[in-house]
Amino acid sequence: MEILTMSLKNLRDRIHRRELSAAEATTQFLTQIEKWNPRLNAYITVNERALDQARAIDRKLATGEDVGPLAGVPMAIKDMLCTKDLRTTAGSKILADFVPPYSATVVERLENSGAITLGKTNQDEFAMGSSSETSYFGVSRNPWDLDRVPGGSSGGSAAAVAGGLACASIGTDTGGSIRQPASFCGVVGIKPTYGRVSRYGIVAYASSLDQAGPMTRTVEDSALVLEAIAGRDPRDSTTAAQPVPTWSQNINKDLKGLKVGLPKEYFLDLLTPETRSAVDKAIAQVRAAGAETVEVSLPLTDIAVSIYYLVATSEASSNLARYDGVRYGHRADFSTEPARDLAEFYCRTRGEGFGSEVKRRIILGTYALSSGYYDAYYKKACQVRRLLRAQFLEVFSKCQVILGPVCIAPAFKIGERISDPLAMYLNDIFTTSANLVGIPGMSVPGGFSAQGLPIGVQLLSAHFQEQHLFNVGAVIEEAMAIKELPNVLQ
Ligand code: GLN
Repeated sequence: MEILTMSLKNLRDRIHRRELSAAEATTQFLTQIEKWNPRLNAYITVNERALDQARAIDRKLATGEDVGPLAGVPMAIKDMLCTKDLRTTAGSKILADFVPPYSATVVERLENSGAITLGKTNQDEFAMGSSSETSYFGVSRNPWDLDRVPGGSSGGSAAAVAGGLACASIGTDTGGSIRQPASFCGVVGIKPTYGRVSRYGIVAYASSLDQAGPMTRTVEDSALVLEAIAGRDPRDSTTAAQPVPTWSQNINKDLKGLKVGLPKEYFLDLLTPETRSAVDKAIAQVRAAGAETVEVSLPLTDIAVSIYYLVATSEASSNLARYDGVRYGHRADFSTEPARDLAEFYCRTRGEGFGSEVKRRIILGTYALSSGYYDAYYKKACQVRRLLRAQFLEVFSKCQVILGPVCIAPAFKIGERISDPLAMYLNDIFTTSANLVGIPGMSVPGGFSAQGLPIGVQLLSAHFQEQHLFNVGAVIEEAMAIKELPNVLQ
């Protein structure tokens, strides 16, 4: 049991010192998966080669060969990331049988660092959602309360770490999909600066917003994983040529001289009292660590969600045009009733392959991009996006970190919101800005509700200033780091 709740750093060090073999650690996680995945549905696919990977690491360790910084660490990968010879579905029927011939750069870098791939985690279809309920493979459950969602879209990645079904995982975040599930499941999740992490081999949802990042038990672990996956990649021209700092070795919990901004628009009456109190507690902690807090203002906050749903759906409508049933992915059965023309071929294939949320977004995005509406919707959204960016840059001239809630409330019940897309979209009020502006954001556990549900606190910083997030995150988690598995799973 201890292994399942150990920090990545501890586990890695124990494996490195050969007090524990990578195979043993991997076996423990695989056993937990076998026991709990039928309930949690955190994984869509378990990697049958995981144990072989672990044994290869053990052999290297035995001969004193160089092993990477994540050697032997059993990890879970969101099903948005291509894994060579391992099924990658994006949570969709249209990719239900897709086995990629190559791996995403993130996966390649993790494996080169010695990490073990346990499997591919459940998610909302094409990462469109906040609850993991839009997955073709069924909803994933929150390990803290099996009747509740783990959040989304990286719900399976969050549930896997929280439930001890992986030591750490990778999620993707286009409008909050790492931070919100991290908050709902009590793990640390970071969306890096846009361009920090390569998008090569990651199923594209909204290319100007998508970013992959770590989901871990501790802040330090989050830094360790990000160090392994970040950096320039010639195969993704949007990656930045910035050097990758060794954040994990520079975590400084003395916050003297740091200014932490509290945007007044983030402290709405809408927040549940428990969310408010978790954020207040975090504010007290950063002050106790020497930081000064200042009130700031982000007046465009309430329209960030509208901008996001125009930009994201527009990009999605273009990105998802590639799923046509011709070269790969699901194709409708035309054996008894052949298609009359190409349009019908596409219609039947796409009609069967995509779920209703994905269809809704393709329609929305196509509308926003169509002639006559483009100027009023897509172009206007891009203009306001620039203003939002300017607003954030202005705020970052007054403080280095912004602190606030991740969500209005803790995890909601399965089925509670799925039939009301607008209510679901409004969930994203505090998270979408970071993607629109390109800045990094972290969710760090800040407390529990009376019902025992985790509540995350959000930290934002200026572009490429992730170190601030690790420093402040480390202060907040000190009081809160969740060391146990949820009761239900014990
Ligand atoms: N909840 C948001 C959406 O539904 C965010 C998704 C994401 O970050 N991938 O689009």
